[in-house]
Amino acid sequence: MLFAAIRGPTLTQRACSACFSSTTRSYAFIAPTSSFRRGTRSPLAQQLIVTRARLIDPPESAILIQPSLSSSSITHPLGEIPVFDTIAAFREWRKEITRQNKTVGFVPTMGALHDGHLGLVQTARQECDAVVVSIFVNPAQFAPHEDLDQYPRTFDTDYASLVATKACSAILLPKVSEMYPAGITLDRTQQRGAFVEVVGLSHQMEGIPRPHFFRGVATIVTKLFNIVQPDRAYFGQKDAQQCAVLRAMIRDLLLPIKMRAVPTSRETDGLAMSSRNRYLTPEMRSVATLLYRAISAAKENIVEHGAYEREEILKPAFAIIEQVAKDVKAKGLPFEVRLDYLSLVDVETLSELQQLGKTQAAVLSGAVYVGTTRLIDNVLINTEEL
Ligand code: AMP
Repeated sequence: MLFAAIRGPTLTQRACSACFSSTTRSYAFIAPTSSFRRGTRSPLAQQLIVTRARLIDPPESAILIQPSLSSSSITHPLGEIPVFDTIAAFREWRKEITRQNKTVGFVPTMGALHDGHLGLVQTARQECDAVVVSIFVNPAQFAPHEDLDQYPRTFDTDYASLVATKACSAILLPKVSEMYPAGITLDRTQQRGAFVEVVGLSHQMEGIPRPHFFRGVATIVTKLFNIVQPDRAYFGQKDAQQCAVLRAMIRDLLLPIKMRAVPTSRETDGLAMSSRNRYLTPEMRSVATLLYRAISAAKENIVEHGAYEREEILKPAFAIIEQVAKDVKAKGLPFEVRLDYLSLVDVETLSELQQLGKTQAAVLSGAVYVGTTRLIDNVLINTEEL
């Protein structure tokens, strides 16, 4: 357990990272803001919201790290974009937007923003009067052994990036305690309360190694939709299965929201942008394009060579990954490259295909480990959009 008095951002951030890196069950607390002399808290410390990890169900007296315990809304010192850390304050803002008859586009994120996220924000801005970005690292989509504690939290740079886009109208930065009123533990068998699950699309592909994942995603997106009440919502094609799950969820729950799946933003060498890329060392980064190269080779096999049998389609993809894994080993690099899975599914049903129809829309996807970092990517076959 760790107590941190906020005297400036550095101390706060150090306290936060100490808590995040802890693998034991610990909370980071700050004392109520009133216990500090006025002027001793930096504006950033007031605004930095860090949500706790492993078991998020604090004892009554405990307070998860929050910027300002009494604030109903907060505004960054630069003042360009309002940042809301309570649902009530956000709803007041939303009411005003409704009064002004403006349409709202919504981009849900977990922060650590990169150009892929910002591309969604720009697309939303082109199609809507106001754009809301949420930043929330959602515990329910992480398993106990996954990287929730280590997931990058970079609010100040995220904020600056959003200001630079000139496209974001408001930031929603909700607390775990508000999003999960019944508390949330990463152990699925112990979870209590309401959850949303899209049956039939959640337990293949990414859902095999991560059986908890899409329930967590569908649940948090439903909650965020209920808060933001968007007209349109923007997601990245990089997370192809997520797009399929959420599209079905919007349809089946009769939500009055138009969904857009925006093409994947890539680095110049093809690597799909991802918040997790920052975990890669330069040596790892130098081989990290292997998955994109692999699935692109498989796609080329379809488009250029007319392959339609699964085995034939995926053969060059397996070969590329195997070769890179061997090279990394032969060079004695201090990490391993390991294939998690490759998949070829129908775009609608997400059922694995043994044979691809000539014009059948499909998703060719996969996941690899480069060291301990898990990278995912996909390419679309016979379709432009998910
Ligand atoms: P995340 O913060 O990783 O949950 O991502 C938030 C949203 O950004 C999701 O809809 C992702 O699919 C999308 N996204 C992440 N990376 C990319 C990318 N490289 N290109 C386009 N969208 C992305």
